[in-house]
Amino acid sequence: MTAIVGKKFAIPYDAEEQRKKRAFNGNILRVNLSTGEMRVEEPGEAFYRKYIGGRGFILHYLLSELSAGTDPLSPDNLLIFAPGVMTGTTLPSTGRHAVGAKSPLTGALASGEAGGYWGIELKKTGFDAIVIQGKAESPVYLWIRDGMVEIRDARHLWGKVTGETEDLIRDELDDEKIQVSLIGPGGENQVLYACVLNNTSRAAGRSGLGAVMGSKNLKAVAVRGSKAPGLADKKLLGEVTKWVSKNYKDLMGWAVETGTLGSVKFQHDTGTLPIRNYKGTSIEGIENIDAAVLFPLLLKGKETCAACPVKCKPVFGYKDEKVKIDPRYGGPEYETLGALGSVCAVTDSIAVAKAAELCEQYGLDTISTGGTIAFTMECVEKGLLTAEQGYDFLPEFGDPDSLVRAVHAIAMRKGIGALMALGSARMAETFTEDVSEMVVVVRGQEPPVHDARRKNLYGMGYALSATGADHMHNMDDTFANFAQSDVCGRLAEAGIQVPLPLYGITEEKIRGFIVETAYKNYLDSAVICHFYPFSFAHVAKSLQGATGWDVSQDEIIEIGNRIIHMARLFLVREGFTAEDDKLPERFHEPHSEGPIAGKGLTKEELHQSIERYYELMGWGPDGIPAESVVKKYEIEMYV
Ligand code: SF4
Repeated sequence: MTAIVGKKFAIPYDAEEQRKKRAFNGNILRVNLSTGEMRVEEPGEAFYRKYIGGRGFILHYLLSELSAGTDPLSPDNLLIFAPGVMTGTTLPSTGRHAVGAKSPLTGALASGEAGGYWGIELKKTGFDAIVIQGKAESPVYLWIRDGMVEIRDARHLWGKVTGETEDLIRDELDDEKIQVSLIGPGGENQVLYACVLNNTSRAAGRSGLGAVMGSKNLKAVAVRGSKAPGLADKKLLGEVTKWVSKNYKDLMGWAVETGTLGSVKFQHDTGTLPIRNYKGTSIEGIENIDAAVLFPLLLKGKETCAACPVKCKPVFGYKDEKVKIDPRYGGPEYETLGALGSVCAVTDSIAVAKAAELCEQYGLDTISTGGTIAFTMECVEKGLLTAEQGYDFLPEFGDPDSLVRAVHAIAMRKGIGALMALGSARMAETFTEDVSEMVVVVRGQEPPVHDARRKNLYGMGYALSATGADHMHNMDDTFANFAQSDVCGRLAEAGIQVPLPLYGITEEKIRGFIVETAYKNYLDSAVICHFYPFSFAHVAKSLQGATGWDVSQDEIIEIGNRIIHMARLFLVREGFTAEDDKLPERFHEPHSEGPIAGKGLTKEELHQSIERYYELMGWGPDGIPAESVVKKYEIEMYV
């Protein structure tokens, strides 16, 4: 297939001295798929120091270029691929990039981070980010190689699953080292929670980024570069790298041994893991979806991200006369096992692993897929969805076969899958009965599998998140309660007395949340893996080593908080109000038995905590950042 449009940019590779001095290129690629226009912007060093990359870049472009109220699936939406200033440095944890847009699932911010190798490869091409707008007339993919950019025909790739697409692109361009970020049939069919994947198992998973990519007729972005970014101070960055090499086995032993999969039974036994669409309190056979059983049965190896010695990603494979699980799709993590397993009341190891593998093939967010299937199962149990309505099959709680079938149906939008492709909140709107009590979403998005009745502050984080319920830019009550955790280490660095109480939301917990979420938003912009137990001193030193900027802990917190204020301005602009900072009903209904019997958070407690958060952030009672805050963070241009 030939290029539809091609352009060679004069990326300043000859300016080797300049490149060696810092970990970013200084170039942002702009592509308009409607017109074929391509250009490069050079926003200058101050831009990089202010926004850092990743989520910071995403919010800058959404706030400054997207009109309020834009239909997320229209050509006008922006799709932004953004590594960060740390991506591609020698520091382990930095093999990541972010993808962002306005979310078609929530109408709010979509911003997800993925590991693997794609982000580094993009930076090696001479670009620090790609901002894509418009819609191609027919399916295309982008091919970027060392400053050369082509829009190529992808009609022959449309309809193919992710693994096959990756193989075909590498064959066509005759280079097996090409890294490909892409969508599967889920994104093509605009399932509202379709994701964008790279390395066929690393997903920018949440909020429907794959549907945005599908709406643009963009199947993939293939990259290959030859110039690694430079470093300002190798020795300084090397000090943090040495600290990682010396300590990672002790401090990240859980990740080295089992990754997040080893915590499923523990989370079940302590009441964190939701069961049966958040109504259950325990489930038989939970060990079947924990590493203790899954590893001996399915483990074929471990994968890692660029420059990371931890290798926390399991690779599963299986074959019998009925089921084949292909190892190229990696393996499920804790969130996936909970969403497709316990939330759907399914503990069949093979079925849950197969459903997870299908989500990677089709390009679906596993959390929203599981949450939506569980909601559908409850509708079936309550007789709201029946075979008499003409459905060829309906998923049922605890039924492994119908779980797997449901994933196929969602990706292809077939039968009940056409409704499930909308996500549980919009699916609920299609019923004549009031089913709102059964819908477990925040801002329209299914939450990760940490029950807010067990983790109250996490719940407040769900309610406040600009992306809908999120477990990444949040603070986990259990880590804040564990004095030896990296979370407590960072809070202590910021002058907060630790450990913090496990249950409830206190003044100190809200103050801690502000510090920790600033840190996490910095990580999602830099873009750095959350599993690494860095201190503020580590991240400040590593940023200085990468860029030469003399940054302090306070500047890291300021960068993170700027991004939180920007995300809030985006929500306000898109019509969200303080009324939307809330949790689903079920998080306010205590269980009558089980490990968290009687625990939870009343609506009043949540409301008071959120009001105090607004106050500490300098937001008004309406949840809108005050003029003085907007001025202090130099974000007046977005108001
Ligand atoms: S710890 Fe895991 S997710 Fe993080 S960079 Fe390493 S392999 Fe990737």
